[in-house]
Amino acid sequence: MLTKRSQVLEESITLAIASLANELKAKGEDIISFSAGEPDFDTPKAIKNAAIAAIEKGCGKYTAVPGIKEVLKAVQTKLKKDNALDYETSEVVVNVGAKHSLFQCIECLVEKDDEVIIPTPYWVSYPEMVKFAEGKPVFIEGLEKNGFKITAEQLQKAITPKTKVLMLNSPSNPIGSIYRKKELLEIAEILKNTNIVVLSDEIYEKLSYDNTEITAFASLNEDTLKRTVTINGLSKCGAMPGWRFGYMASKNKELISAVKRLQGQSTSNICSVIQYAAIPALTGECDQDIETMRQAFEKRRNVALEILEKIPNISFYKPEGAFYLFINIQKIEKDSMKFCKKLLEEEKVAVVPGVGFGMDGYFRISYATSEDLIKKGLERIAKFIKNYN
Ligand code: PMP
Ligand code: GLU
Repeated sequence: MLTKRSQVLEESITLAIASLANELKAKGEDIISFSAGEPDFDTPKAIKNAAIAAIEKGCGKYTAVPGIKEVLKAVQTKLKKDNALDYETSEVVVNVGAKHSLFQCIECLVEKDDEVIIPTPYWVSYPEMVKFAEGKPVFIEGLEKNGFKITAEQLQKAITPKTKVLMLNSPSNPIGSIYRKKELLEIAEILKNTNIVVLSDEIYEKLSYDNTEITAFASLNEDTLKRTVTINGLSKCGAMPGWRFGYMASKNKELISAVKRLQGQSTSNICSVIQYAAIPALTGECDQDIETMRQAFEKRRNVALEILEKIPNISFYKPEGAFYLFINIQKIEKDSMKFCKKLLEEEKVAVVPGVGFGMDGYFRISYATSEDLIKKGLERIAKFIKNYN
């Protein structure tokens, strides 16, 4: 009865484990959850106030499909201010989270058997979206010591006449590595004589540590500006994951028009209240809140690293951004699902198995939680690993 493509779609493992952890907590179990990638901070006051004001003003009607004028302008301002990117408001569409932006772009770009290059480990939803569009994910694995970032040479080898899209995610989930400008320029050079579209997922953009510079792929040169769809949202850097606000910007008029039609025939506009609420987060009014969060995440990363460094038989890349650590447990257990299940049952710590990110023998923790819980949870993990059999 169901279509083949809906049957091949896997459940989102990040969301599944997060909700399992919440269920167990609600039953009174002493669970420490390092599962979902979402800030534990409350949404900044200016965003809440903008939402309340919009409701009071009576903003309950349908809006234009791509978004209200004010929010499109706010996205335009943000991209200019933070990323030196010049987009017209007609080149922007706001979506129900960046997941929705990516999903719609892939639906509009990828045909049956088209190839989409995905660096591994990847965020869980990328290959699923490609499979749903009946495309073919092509995985490239960078070096672990280089944060699994792919090189221009690897990219060159992976490109075929069927390559349609390259997924880029920096800072990355689940590694937390950040591509430097030089590395991006090398990738851009390989793409120069192709028609490959880059979906540049910049959702962790404001969460970079040790003063690591962030570069938007589209901002490199004229060519990258033309071939890139810049994708971003406020789930992570605006501490509003449940509000569902994402956006995309592209010079590709055909793609923008197709996404608008797809959105117009599926969700219509995104929630009107959220569009008004997003404006202060985009125009800079919440920058101080975001910076406070960023500093807290950097401190938590350091706390986590200090504990992890003392645990034998594991290894990991020191993240430069986002709020994840991707831990290599190949010396202990190759089956990451088995390891994570046992860890939850025996030590009540929820983490995400690496297999969900395309890499068994690893697990991911999200350190978007309090220092106290990080310490407690990692001590439990240390004990679990010491006694693992
Ligand atoms: N991209 C990456 C890399 C992510 O980790 C997430 C997390 N949910 C998203 C996109 C989508 O975020 P959202 O739909 O909440 O905007
Ligand atoms: N992106 C977050 C994560 O990786 C949230 C869950 C999801 O949408 O996958 O945990």
